Amino acid sequence: MNIYSIIYCEKTNKIQEVKMERKLVIIGAGPAGLTAGIYALSFKINTIVIEKAFPGGNILLTERIVNYPGFPEGISGQELAENMKNQYLGFGGQIITGEVKDIIIEEERKIVKMVDGSEIKTDAIIIASGSSRKKLNVEGEKEYTGRGVSYCAICDGFFFKGKKIAVIGGGNSALEEAIYLTKYADRCYLIHRRDSFRASAYLQEELKKYPAITPVLSRVVRRIEGDGQKVHTLVIENKNTGEIEKISIDGVFISIGQKPNVEFIDGKIEQNPAGYIITDYKMETSVKGIFACGDVIKKSLYQIITACGEGATAANAAEKYLSH
Ligand code: NAP
Repeated sequence: MNIYSIIYCEKTNKIQEVKMERKLVIIGAGPAGLTAGIYALSFKINTIVIEKAFPGGNILLTERIVNYPGFPEGISGQELAENMKNQYLGFGGQIITGEVKDIIIEEERKIVKMVDGSEIKTDAIIIASGSSRKKLNVEGEKEYTGRGVSYCAICDGFFFKGKKIAVIGGGNSALEEAIYLTKYADRCYLIHRRDSFRASAYLQEELKKYPAITPVLSRVVRRIEGDGQKVHTLVIENKNTGEIEKISIDGVFISIGQKPNVEFIDGKIEQNPAGYIITDYKMETSVKGIFACGDVIKKSLYQIITACGEGATAANAAEKYLSH
């Protein structure tokens, strides 16, 4: 098995020898990627993790995690992310900040091309790039993003102290965010397109403890209106009557699910119609030497605990692949 250690940077037009031999590149530093990194390092595989934003992934957006074993009082997403990152670094891991643009597959050798023009040659790849928030695709959404429209309650909730807001969606994330936002907002309209929520029974029970939340069911968002500077109105349609209704609000939090972060795959690895990567039980993808885990894969349960388990499994499969 070859070990490559040359990085070419288009910007500086320089080829850089990297002293450390690297056999495994992990794309994404969420729970799946960091766990894969911890296991890979414990298998003595030279490993680097590439992360485009901050280590931790989507758990950074979760205020309190109550269903991850080992923390009977719950743990904040930031703390759990920090612990995972430090554990990976403690094993001697490295994290490179950057965005992957493309993967070149040349038989056993793989090249990870970065947006900044650099390239990393490696023997195996674990894709753990996670998922991002879906857009509603309605008028006003793009125009008012950052000016009343948000995709992250934890990041932006603070700006809505004493205000009226709407959360769009009916899944676990939407309900968790609506509950979280009652810390700040005086009124939170939870707008869902069906007549019942998709979220877990536990969260639906929790919701009842928050009188500041008004569930608005069977409504579809048609438009987000503002004065050119800030959002002021949400235009929704009652699915039962077809009536158009207007709600006066200061902010809209869109929480209608996720889409996998797979832009760099470009059809080279088998995916399902929604873009999620298809893996087998060993986390192997359709390409030998490329494994995937976490929220980027097609599976039945999208949770931190499953992402971690898949990360460990992917590292184990990568170890077997690399040792042949
Ligand atoms: P999700 O479970 O897919 O729910 C998305 C919600 O948005 C659904 O209610 C869906 O409506 C609605 N929706 C989708 N597209 C829409 C559109 N164009 N317009 C209006 N509404 C739309 O997504 P999620 O809540 O982000 O959760 C993602 C995954 O993470 C899930 O597997 C979830 O269980 C997991 N998660 C778990 C926890 C936890 O366990 N504490 C917390 C957060 C997330 P329909 O119901 O009509 O399809």
